[in-house]
Amino acid sequence: MKRYLVKPEEKINLDQRNPNDKGYFRGDKEKGRLKLAELNSRLEELQEMLYAQHKHKVLIVLQAMDAGGKDGTIRHVFDGVNPQGVKVASFKVPTPEELDRDYLWRIHKHTPGKGEIVIFNRSHYEDVLVVRVKGFVPGTVWRRRFKHIRDFEKLLADEGTTILKFFLHIDQAEQKERFQARLDTPHKQWKFRHGDLEDRKLWDDYMKAYADALSKTSTESAPWYIIPSNRKWYRNLVISRILVDTLEGLDMCFPEPEEDLENVVIE
Ligand code: ADP
Repeated sequence: MKRYLVKPEEKINLDQRNPNDKGYFRGDKEKGRLKLAELNSRLEELQEMLYAQHKHKVLIVLQAMDAGGKDGTIRHVFDGVNPQGVKVASFKVPTPEELDRDYLWRIHKHTPGKGEIVIFNRSHYEDVLVVRVKGFVPGTVWRRRFKHIRDFEKLLADEGTTILKFFLHIDQAEQKERFQARLDTPHKQWKFRHGDLEDRKLWDDYMKAYADALSKTSTESAPWYIIPSNRKWYRNLVISRILVDTLEGLDMCFPEPEEDLENVVIE
């Protein structure tokens, strides 16, 4: 999975990253589905252990352009996982109350506690992406945020949080198809927002902002992965693989039972 990892300070040009890549998996969509089911079961076991052990905290950050597949990733990667112990925090346009405070205020309170996996559906990265591209704050303000974010994530990591950050990389043609599918499918129309077309016009600016953010905030303890996401099945597979490998690396175990269980008799 190293191929998708962003090294700290690595210069990123998203035009040179293939969103159609499926190089890690030598199989087709059907085989990919079977493999994903295997990984889902393993993730279910690992999550149960994480919850029972009540020691580790796991934060997963998902960022993407509109229709990039954040919702689908959450649905498929966590399929079958016990909802107890997994939370999703979605970050929308900040409320007036949130805007009155620093941009990490609303984020920090959703970070995972012991035994929890929290998925950020959008995140503090919006404050160096949409905010930069739309010019909501001056350059002097968003530029210094890269350091805030590195420091904030270092704090979380130092205090025992395992952090994984995924940029779901699609191209403009794929986005067009997905928008069109939303328009054409009655039960998907609720997902369509006119504002999404405004952001689509700013595609190049977004890619530049993403490249910069990925390069400046990928660190040893809070790495970014650029996930080829034009193929949904491949996206799910790669993210599941990284997640399972990371959780296995935590060397978790179930807590010791209370003593003298052998003598317990249930009348
Ligand atoms: P999603 O696209 O994640 O499914 P929405 O369609 O409600 O959900 O979009 C959420 C919107 O909130 C996005 O356009 C995103 O850019 C915007 N947003 C999130 N965080 C911020 C922020 N800090 N400042 C400005 N806009 C933000």
